Amino acid sequence: MGKEKYDFLFNHFDLYEKVYIESKDCVEIVKPHNEFKIIVDYIPEDDFSPYLVSWSYQHRHLVDEDDVIEYVNEIINCKVYAIECFKGDTAVFGGEIRIDDFEDFSYETLEKWSGYFGLTKLLDCVDTVKVRFWHGGFDATFAYDKDGKPTVVLQCDECGSKFIKAKSKMMSLCPECAHILFGYENCKHQFKDGKCELCHWDGSRSDYIKGLMDNNT
Ligand SMILES: [Zn+2]
Ligand SMILES: [Zn+2]
Repeated sequence: MGKEKYDFLFNHFDLYEKVYIESKDCVEIVKPHNEFKIIVDYIPEDDFSPYLVSWSYQHRHLVDEDDVIEYVNEIINCKVYAIECFKGDTAVFGGEIRIDDFEDFSYETLEKWSGYFGLTKLLDCVDTVKVRFWHGGFDATFAYDKDGKPTVVLQCDECGSKFIKAKSKMMSLCPECAHILFGYENCKHQFKDGKCELCHWDGSRSDYIKGLMDNNT
């Protein structure tokens, strides 16, 4: 049985190209102008869950065609994010997080996931967390907050400063930019040694925000 076993895929995901790769006997679902792809493999030797769907850092074994369609739809609709924890260049562990659970993307949650390392502090075995989804991705690192607790640090898309995730209402913006652009409550910054001790914003401003502020004064 060749390409026909993948026929069911070709009636779905209209926005994306589906390519049968003969040499590997699998189908790739490809996002244009992007290296991101989803690979669907049928492995008949696996009696129970013959479908293997791989993307980014993740893969799942699935039972039937409906499961494959459902899972691929979740990926391309950004309902699931792939995360992988690294120490240097070495992948340590990974998993999936549903977009609805992203509020819980914290140091504590990650440490819970790393059950295998239960007796080790997460910070001792991980220094970067790569988060990838169909439409993009970002990297997270860690720092200690003002109370000396380890916490997740992200980079602001607007001003480029690092910030403590727990201090911002938005994943992609620091509290300062989220306040100026979207009116979210700002951090009551306390600057020390070039950055806010509470949220780690370093005072950076994008040209766009500088322009907004000039117009308001
Ligand atoms: Zn910012
Ligand atoms: Zn602050």
